[in-house]
Amino acid sequence: KHTHTNTHCGCRKKTEMRRIQEDLTATLVILSAISPISTLSNLDADVTVVGSGPGGYVAAIKAAQLGFKTVCVEKNASLGGTCLNVGCIPSKALLNNSYLYHMAHGKDFESRGIEISGLSLNLEKMMAQKSGAVKALTGGIAHLFKQNKVTHVSGFGRVTGKNQVTAVADDGSEQVINTKNILIATGSEVTPFPGIPIDEDSIVSSTGALSLKKVPEEMIVIGAGVIGVELGSVWQRLGSKVTAVEFLGHTFQRILQKQGFKFKLGTKVLGATKRPDGKIDVAVEAAAGGKNETLTCDVLLVCIGRRPFTENLGLDSVGIELDNRGRIPVNNRFQTKVPSIYAIGDVVAGPMLAHKAEDEGIITVEGMAGGAVHIDYNCVPSVIYTHPEVAWVGKTEEQLKEEGVPYKVGKFPFAANSRAKTNADTDGMVKILSHKETDRMLGAHIVGSGAGEMINEAALAMEYGASCEDIARVCHAHPTVSEAFREANLAASFGKAINF
Ligand SMILES: Cc1cc2nc3c(=O)[nH]c(=O)nc-3n(C[C@H](O)[C@H](O)[C@H](O)COP(=O)(O)OP(=O)(O)OC[C@H]3O[C@@H](n4cnc5c(N)ncnc54)[C@H](O)[C@@H]3O)c2cc1C
Repeated sequence: KHTHTNTHCGCRKKTEMRRIQEDLTATLVILSAISPISTLSNLDADVTVVGSGPGGYVAAIKAAQLGFKTVCVEKNASLGGTCLNVGCIPSKALLNNSYLYHMAHGKDFESRGIEISGLSLNLEKMMAQKSGAVKALTGGIAHLFKQNKVTHVSGFGRVTGKNQVTAVADDGSEQVINTKNILIATGSEVTPFPGIPIDEDSIVSSTGALSLKKVPEEMIVIGAGVIGVELGSVWQRLGSKVTAVEFLGHTFQRILQKQGFKFKLGTKVLGATKRPDGKIDVAVEAAAGGKNETLTCDVLLVCIGRRPFTENLGLDSVGIELDNRGRIPVNNRFQTKVPSIYAIGDVVAGPMLAHKAEDEGIITVEGMAGGAVHIDYNCVPSVIYTHPEVAWVGKTEEQLKEEGVPYKVGKFPFAANSRAKTNADTDGMVKILSHKETDRMLGAHIVGSGAGEMINEAALAMEYGASCEDIARVCHAHPTVSEAFREANLAASFGKAINF
């Protein structure tokens, strides 16, 4: 009970303090209502993976399987990164379906005795099939995370210490993860073309080209790289007139030209302007210097490459600097200069491929567990999923010449392969390069239907240091297109194939 009259007594001070405290609490309640920032309870982890693309999600699953307490932070609403959401998976769905449409629409089905009348394209349905495949596969990762006890944290991950990642969710709430190791797998993003802003409507990147609402009458592709020719093929098969404008020449351009693909090689794009009628004028000039020309299209696909994505990642706060191409420098255990921080996939050097990212992810976490870390980039296959497919692994003839390695060549055309013949799909051939003295396979180059599947046999052989004779003596099922691979190895090893 207050009995003092002295205004400076302790009781009065206590009452004042309580009032101030109450005011402060009320202010904080109001503030937190205005700004939704809240801090979730901290997490502790052995491994925190930032990014859930093929590099990140595979690494997270493997880490959990090795017994690490694992967290995977992803900023996007769905898991799977570029590959599953706007890369490999949706592009292959469209490539497959556009190929079937093209077969049915052209003379091909007719020549096989399959006559169709009233054929039409339902693009919306085709896109829905693509989205269904993406949804099933990205949802599958969420399931695998649960099954393997990987904790999925939704939010933008920032490195806030050598052993700490802070994830900021869309609503601004933060989650601090204290972790023994950090694995950065933040991948890549589309490289912009200076002066040509992407609107993903009529001037599109690969992402927009996977979701066009209608088939453009004319499409121009800037950049005839792998992604450019794949997506150009999709729209060309669905009815667009496609022209690829590329600074450098391309090797399998002839086959694509036969299908109606136009190339303007050795040509430099100067800029693009949208016309009032919605069309786009693209100004080009011959790279060697020459006359300027204006090409017109309904959709312009800008596809000049991808660049590593490290925006706002907080690497500078721990002293990690990027190389001159924006990549994170790592040693042969994928460790950055901070030993507890690792990086893999598109964000580090090497080919920007999903399977390369996956393999790096697996061996990096095995390395964290004390295992050996080894990848032979010479054995990483590449595939272009056009028709016919183009696939290769190992050395090219040019490289072997440059390195002064004596080599032999074995070739086998699909025109001489019984399965390709019965399928009436005989474009292309297998070319094998082997060491002249040891017969060891040094490279495989395949153009043809199913090349993307067949190249894995070559990768397996090269990983095991197989000779061409080894492969030629492996019994291959008949009739299969893979027999062409065996025959090319026979040709490389013995100088002669059987069926050609
Ligand atoms: C159209 C197209 C077709 C392709 N086709 C093929 C193909 O057929 N075969 C092939 O091998 N490759 C293909 N690629 C390339 C392939 O997609 C990439 O090489 C691969 O996805 C790289 O994997 P990654 O895990 O390094 O990164 P990404 O797949 O790019 O994943 C990175 C993830 O990290 C997330 N992230 C980034 N920063 C943060 C952050 N700070 N916090 C939280 N999350 C973050 C991103 O949201 C993303 O989900 C294609 C690419 C494109 C665009």
